Amino acid sequence: MKVLVVGNGGREHALAWKLFRSERVDEIFVAPGNDGMTDIAQTVDIKADDIEGLANFARENEIGMTVVGPEEPLVAGIVDYFVEESLPIFGPKKQAALLEGSKVFAKDILNKYNIPTAEYEVFTDPDSALNYLKNADYPLVIKAEGLAQGKGSIVASNFQDSQDAVTRIMEDKTFGDAGDRIVVEDFLEGEELSVFALTDGQTILPITTARDHKAVFEGDEGPNTGGMGAYSPAVNTDEELMDKICREILRPTLHALNSEGIDYRGVLHIGMILTESGPAVIDYNARFGDPETQVILPRLGEDIIELMEMTNNVELKYKKEIKVSGSVAVCVVLASAGYPLTFNTGYEIKGLDNLKHHDDLLIFHAGTKIVEDKYYTDGGRVLGLTVVDNGLLNTINKVYQYIEEVEFEDMHYRTDIGFSISEIAEKELN
Ligand code: AMP
Repeated sequence: MKVLVVGNGGREHALAWKLFRSERVDEIFVAPGNDGMTDIAQTVDIKADDIEGLANFARENEIGMTVVGPEEPLVAGIVDYFVEESLPIFGPKKQAALLEGSKVFAKDILNKYNIPTAEYEVFTDPDSALNYLKNADYPLVIKAEGLAQGKGSIVASNFQDSQDAVTRIMEDKTFGDAGDRIVVEDFLEGEELSVFALTDGQTILPITTARDHKAVFEGDEGPNTGGMGAYSPAVNTDEELMDKICREILRPTLHALNSEGIDYRGVLHIGMILTESGPAVIDYNARFGDPETQVILPRLGEDIIELMEMTNNVELKYKKEIKVSGSVAVCVVLASAGYPLTFNTGYEIKGLDNLKHHDDLLIFHAGTKIVEDKYYTDGGRVLGLTVVDNGLLNTINKVYQYIEEVEFEDMHYRTDIGFSISEIAEKELN
């Protein structure tokens, strides 16, 4: 089978890497991809938002499965278009992807079906929002309704913060139309966690959990990025908690979607906080996360193409569980200093050839290009280094050891990926 991956970052490299391991896959194309993946895939010069161009390519090249990395094409209706044209594709249709595309839609579903989440209010104009925020209890979280590349949620500690957030989202329109409405919700205390599940619209099965670090600096300081690192599984996700998550969140979400007449197929990636009274949803995502995909897929013990086909053929009911290895995966993102704001690119990346010799290291390229056989930086996030091994601390240490071997000008990475859960790390040490 030939497959087409849509997108260009580390997530898409990880998807291509996992697809490459399927016996059923003969050829992989990534549109637009990046030069760092060209040892396993051919890059195709079509942008991720050019739905018609992608469909034409899939038809002409007899693509057996198209896999969409980013959320924008899903929310824009790429799956509807492909299905209409009888082209095989993995992911939810536009109406289902609204679970990620509109935070108001998602909150209303959560609320209507009593799925645990934070209390919230929705505002369509800045004055009424500020009126409410003046007398509110803090902290609060202020969220642009639409897609904002993971940067549209702002934690406000006081009225001044919320005024700034409302100005940025609703008046300066930093996120464009995505800021026409805002959700203001209670701040939930607790460990954060992402759960990844597969669904064919009738059955929902958890894959595994992960934790990502969005803030650009150590200690979760500084502006949010697409993600500076991740590990999987997230700590504390024992069988009991996973059962609770299935019972209280995954299955009720599927039931809610069915009741609304929505046929959701694909991966459902749910952001949660483990509060004192149990897990609560902070957001739904209609696709794999980045960098979480870089730690989940290396642990996935199944043929990814078969799983994707099962979601389309409504066959997940025949599966008891999705197999994942018991090992730990840790990914640290090497970025260009200045990201997510302004940064320079075009610097030579040194040491990559040596790194390739480590069997337990996976190198996923997010923003690199090759010029005359040398790699250069070509984006905010440049590389994701993932180690899969046993024990969280041991695995974290290995990634950081390997990072010492690579360098480029302006290289920036967080030195505390995974370490924030020091309690667990300490337990492991003793
Ligand atoms: P989101 O855009 O909804 O994915 O949120 C981005 C980040 O904001 C999350 O990863 C959390 O760290 C934080 N966050 C969002 N909603 C809440 C909430 N209700 N309580 C606490 N933290 C939140």
